[in-house]
Amino acid sequence: MFENLQAQPADKILALMQAFRDDPRADKIDLGVGVYRNAEGITPIMRAIKSAEHRLWQEQTSKAYVGLAGDPAFADAMIRLVLNNAVPRENIAAAATPGGTGAVRQAFEMIRLANPDVRIFVSDPTWPNHLSILKFMGVETVAYRYFDSQSGGVDFDGMMADLGALRKGDVVLLHGCCHNPTGANMNLVEWQAVIDLLNDKGAVPMIDLAYQGFGDGLEADAKPTRMVASQVPECLIATSCSKNFGIYRERTGMLMAVSRNADATALNQATLAYLNRQDYSFPPDHGARLVSMILNDSALRADWTSELEEMRKTMLGLREQLAGELQRLSGSDRFGFIAQHRGMFSRLGIDPEKVEKLRADHGIYMIGDSRINIAGLNRETVPILAQAIVDVGA
Ligand code: PMP
Repeated sequence: MFENLQAQPADKILALMQAFRDDPRADKIDLGVGVYRNAEGITPIMRAIKSAEHRLWQEQTSKAYVGLAGDPAFADAMIRLVLNNAVPRENIAAAATPGGTGAVRQAFEMIRLANPDVRIFVSDPTWPNHLSILKFMGVETVAYRYFDSQSGGVDFDGMMADLGALRKGDVVLLHGCCHNPTGANMNLVEWQAVIDLLNDKGAVPMIDLAYQGFGDGLEADAKPTRMVASQVPECLIATSCSKNFGIYRERTGMLMAVSRNADATALNQATLAYLNRQDYSFPPDHGARLVSMILNDSALRADWTSELEEMRKTMLGLREQLAGELQRLSGSDRFGFIAQHRGMFSRLGIDPEKVEKLRADHGIYMIGDSRINIAGLNRETVPILAQAIVDVGA
């Protein structure tokens, strides 16, 4: 039987991670994988997570199963964090999932169950896993223009023109903030225009919110998601706690389905529980419980928020430093967009040959499409990267 299997394409980012590990150069720089790192290159366990784990260890008396949708306290806490009061609670169904990837996958499953002929519109480019999962599931995708590689900003006119092809019942996948891989994001006026267009066409938004708190702050980053959820009849929101709580390996995420009324919510809630049951039964609980402990305890929450703010501001500072260095060394504003981008990533718009030259000649590793992880830099390596970019003639 197994002889019928075919080799699957390797994940490019994981392959890059391996190549980095195998590189003997001491001064190599890893700007590949999307994990936050501090100035020492470490992905720290956040203080509030450590405290919550300590408390959980002391207080937890059972590891028996929770519910198919996870702990209701986690759902309530995440709904408040993401949506605040933008939508009445009775219009929101929610289920815990293994990470944001689990939420994305379950969202696609729910969409396909509701509409087997659905077309899902995805930004060009998008997080490669979106495309890989949709291909695996056999769901039709339609790419919409998103990134203007000349300006480094959003190609909003191109995007709106491509979304003009939407039909009733199509789904549009949007990144709630901190677009991965480009770092370019719509402003609120543009978001409003997209919402109006979707309502006009009868299309359903699905928001992937994996970086709340990494862009302009917890509230500002949730704003577009709240605008969408409060203005459309139905939407899906896939959230991840991997980045903003730094609990990547705990696999903590949540899928929310927003609908029109309590009856629709009951059906959505039952569907989410059913889908969890089919795929892995009970979702992971450890990370979810830490998150709800932190969000419901004022001291832990304050500590978490301030550490998250420090991380966010560190990344913003590195953006400004890199844009400034490149301006100084190249004498042009071409890379000014790096300071405008938000989140962990920026797509530099450098040719693949130059990306390869940066790796071969300078030991600087970035994704082939020239996406860099800003958090892979520190104050000392920014000038090295800037000089290398200029040296390879990018
Ligand atoms: N969506 C996007 C756009 C992402 O970048 C990520 C993380 N790489 C995720 C979802 C999900 O991450 P995780 O499964 O680790 O929570």
